[in-house]
Amino acid sequence: MRRAALVTGSSRGIGAAIAAALSEAGWAVCVNYIERADKAEELAARLRERGGEVITCQADVADRAAVDAMVARVEAELGPVSLLVNNAGVAKQQQFQDIDPATWQRLFAVNVNGCFHCSQAVLPHMLHEHAGQIVNVSSIWGSHGASCEAAYSATKHAIIGLTRSLSAELAPSGIRVNCVAPGVIDTDMVQVLGRETLEGLAGEIPLGRLGRPEEVARMVLALVENPYVTGQVITVDGGFVI
Ligand code: NAP
Repeated sequence: MRRAALVTGSSRGIGAAIAAALSEAGWAVCVNYIERADKAEELAARLRERGGEVITCQADVADRAAVDAMVARVEAELGPVSLLVNNAGVAKQQQFQDIDPATWQRLFAVNVNGCFHCSQAVLPHMLHEHAGQIVNVSSIWGSHGASCEAAYSATKHAIIGLTRSLSAELAPSGIRVNCVAPGVIDTDMVQVLGRETLEGLAGEIPLGRLGRPEEVARMVLALVENPYVTGQVITVDGGFVI
């Protein structure tokens, strides 16, 4: 039987590339999304054509009850979750003074509470098995600051703190917790910046271009496949924040 992986926010972008890489590596995968059922189904169909075992599941990771129901469904249909990738995330670029409390809270609810809810939901099985792993998706703004990114950056710093503390706590239980910190990756999330800004950013990146979702997925797979790595934050950014 294939081991089951849950990738949050995997209908599009980086999450979709991670789900595809895991499916191709032999994992049974749950593709989670919040709105874009069309994208999730499209990806699932593509992966099933290649022999993958894939289900899709709508759930807002900010909603504890929805997360618990999703994890129960994955367990029933694919088996207990052995790998959780906390990828779902939202961003909002604006000046600190303009951030309204609802926006601040939503960024924390999805980016940070989402990791909390999903990790707690999958842990009982992992603790029982004395095995399992969690990969969190932070950002270069999780270790560096940037203008107009205060709320997003604060959430991504929190994810790195969670990764390090949880890895220390869970290593004796045989569970690994790692993190990837992407730079500017060419997905829907960064399109709000506009073409001109993105071209300018590409010019500032030592490797001279934006990253591709598949390049982040390859790093996630490398972390998943290396049994002696835990508590690490690996940057995938073309040298942007050396
Ligand atoms: P994206 O293209 O905007 O895709 C976001 C994904 O998350 C979609 O699948 C979306 O589902 C899902 N999602 C959003 N809110 C959710 C919620 N509350 N519950 C469940 N799923 C939710 O984003 P991306 O660029 O691939 O980013 C993925 C992760 O990488 C995020 O954590 C982001 O912060 C991080 N990251 C991105 C970059 C970058 O440059 N792109 C850089 C560093 C870090 P729907 O399709 O249903 O809307």
